[in-house]
Amino acid sequence: MRLRKDVLRFPEGKTKAFTLSYDDGVIQDKRLIALFDQYGVKGTFNLNSGTFGQEDQYSHLKVKHTKILEKEVAELYRNHEIACHTVTHPDLSALPSNTVLYEVLTDRKRLEELSGKMVRGMAYPFGTFDGLVKDSLCAAGILYSRTVQSTHDFSIPDDFLEWNPTCHHDDPELLPLAGAFLEKDGSRRPKPKLFYVWGHSYEFDNNQNWEVMENLLKRVSGHEEVWYATNIEIAEYIEAAASLRYSADGGMVFNPTCRTVWMNILDREYCIHSGEMVRIVRD
Ligand SMILES: [Zn+2]
Repeated sequence: MRLRKDVLRFPEGKTKAFTLSYDDGVIQDKRLIALFDQYGVKGTFNLNSGTFGQEDQYSHLKVKHTKILEKEVAELYRNHEIACHTVTHPDLSALPSNTVLYEVLTDRKRLEELSGKMVRGMAYPFGTFDGLVKDSLCAAGILYSRTVQSTHDFSIPDDFLEWNPTCHHDDPELLPLAGAFLEKDGSRRPKPKLFYVWGHSYEFDNNQNWEVMENLLKRVSGHEEVWYATNIEIAEYIEAAASLRYSADGGMVFNPTCRTVWMNILDREYCIHSGEMVRIVRD
């Protein structure tokens, strides 16, 4: 995505965005969503449409890995984003392209049927992918896909098909990172910051550490300068910002998208509505 990120502002001119991403569609998502709703944050839930209702016991887990029921999907996730995690959770980097396409497109279609909403996001099962996998995602109409690679920073990804999160919720750096995210940026031109936390909700039962999420949400929620958004809301907003058109001398900016985009250019705030052209002031 070609975008000069330092001039980007999030909706309403905010400088920070916070998002969460949870995988596999397990029954502990219910408790997690209740927490998200209590604190007014938004999450993305990556679901496997071929394994709803399945119950597994893995040797590395103390608790059962129990999936939610298909009939629960629409109601449970209604305030959050539903995204793909493939039909059967395979290692996509080991599969031929047509099978990758089947796993993603079939999952997408089923999740759209169940939710009645468009599904364009994804998280890679096991975090594995390669160039062939990414090509299949493009063919399936997927806008972004999350990896399991922590950045420990607040950067906006260059390639949304390799969207590296800030950290997992069990990362010892979680609360120090939350502190750094909320720190006031006193510089003349503050850079936009994106804080992205991921995990699996069964891990809170398995490790008996629900307080990790509660402490994080207590710290990060309720700040005026932070946009609390799902993954797709962020990816689609940045897609719109990257679609702005500039005149040869940079003095005019046109917004051809259906979204309002906020920018900070030469220390001035601009709010560029859909279909609008604005002139950049140069003192
Ligand atoms: Zn998974």
